[in-house]
Amino acid sequence: MGIVDRIINNGEAIIFSELFSSIDTKREQKKSAININSLKAMAILKLAKSGVAKKSGENYPAPLKVIEVIKQCRKMTRDDALQYERAAFVELAKGSVAKNLTSIFLGERKLKSKALGLSKHNWSPLKVAVIGAGAMGSGIAFAIANKTGGGVSLYDPYEEQLNKSNASNRAYLQNKVEKGYISADECNRIMERITTTTDIEKAVNKADIVIEAVPENLKLKTDIFQKVHRIAPEAILATNTSTFRVDSLKENLPADRVAGLHFFNPVSKMPLVEIIRGSGTSDDTISKLCSVALAMKKTPLVCNDCAGFVVNRILMPYLVKFDSMISHGMDIEYVDKVMKDFGWPMGPAELCDLVGIDVIYHGAQNISNEYSYINLPDNSVISDLYNNGMLGQKTRSGFYTWKKNQKKGKVTRAGDVRPHKNEVTAALMGVMKTEAKRILDENIVEQPYEINMALVFGLGYPPYKEGII
Ligand code: NAD
Repeated sequence: MGIVDRIINNGEAIIFSELFSSIDTKREQKKSAININSLKAMAILKLAKSGVAKKSGENYPAPLKVIEVIKQCRKMTRDDALQYERAAFVELAKGSVAKNLTSIFLGERKLKSKALGLSKHNWSPLKVAVIGAGAMGSGIAFAIANKTGGGVSLYDPYEEQLNKSNASNRAYLQNKVEKGYISADECNRIMERITTTTDIEKAVNKADIVIEAVPENLKLKTDIFQKVHRIAPEAILATNTSTFRVDSLKENLPADRVAGLHFFNPVSKMPLVEIIRGSGTSDDTISKLCSVALAMKKTPLVCNDCAGFVVNRILMPYLVKFDSMISHGMDIEYVDKVMKDFGWPMGPAELCDLVGIDVIYHGAQNISNEYSYINLPDNSVISDLYNNGMLGQKTRSGFYTWKKNQKKGKVTRAGDVRPHKNEVTAALMGVMKTEAKRILDENIVEQPYEINMALVFGLGYPPYKEGII
């Protein structure tokens, strides 16, 4: 590291003036410009710039600025270089992107400390059960075993679903073992914390908390909650529903212990969890759910009850608007590109294909039962794809065709209307903004920053931007 200049052996006679002069020479070397072949330097910098630009995109100035600073400073003395670097840093720090990223950092901390305040006595459940071992239930059970160190029972009536869940969770951990992040023993220990069963009685008996993640069907969810309540009358009943109100599930149940605990897909990667207070949910239940979510290392957003909660309620008008635009001939690929340039991780058509056209179609129906202004348009392309069994990535065809390796193929519906990108952005982001304002006006959340955080951490809203509201 350059800390030690020379080692002097025991008993060695040294002439201090010689030693200091050799140290001085080294110091001079360190303070002067780097001695490197100019052509080589230019080639390396060019390569670095294109690699970094590809990863960071045009919306984040800092990574490219770093390369620019290295490029400019390599011929300068150390003191000049430090001064140049400082000026570049100050310029970035004063910019809007740094300001926005800082406010996200602070917003996330604020959300977590709010949940920590609510969680009071840091409750840890003796037994947690998850109902339904599909994409979400499997991910939730895994996150509990992996992050909290506690055990979890996972129930599904279909053995093959449980086997699939075990296989995919083990594969996820195996990958970490191969990379050296965890040991094979640790992998086994985590997997042993998940007990899978096709016996609901065994799964939920004596559970403190039961999280349901069965398909999005109100009757099914209601029946499950009734059944669970009969087996474990003292348990908290938490729903992972995407589109139903918590209150629509509470009939004949102790309302103080019915709440929402809404995760995002994939559970292992998405930091947000919405904790929903139904009209009868007690403070004690919210407190306990906050403890569980924090133990799972999630960022909890506590909100009041409404269909779609915060994230899906804002997402749905966006997808409906998109459907309406393309049903009037707008170019699907063009809209996707405009939204990706805006900073979303994917465009609306790609998102629908990933989530599943059937999920979006039914979700839109459920949400429109609650909000008459959120409706699929007359010539809905989403409905048409649904009716033709083109359900997105899972059927290898939706808005796009999809190859086996989930690589995107061609767009399946033509469109040639391409308005200016600002018009597209204003229309799509406009409906989101309006819905966000409604959520605030209805006191679903307490403060605007909570909506901004929900969209960044639950939906991937571009962090470099000022929040949606
Ligand atoms: P999924 O279809 O992948 O899994 C559902 C699981 O429930 C299946 O394993 C199925 O065998 C099981 N199941 C069916 N009937 C059952 C019953 N009677 N009792 C117990 N289990 C039963 O669905 P998913 O995507 O995991 O969604 C589950 C819930 O989570 C839905 O309410 C959905 O809206 C919500 N959700 C989904 C996502 C997502 O992106 N997939 C995100 C957030 C919330």
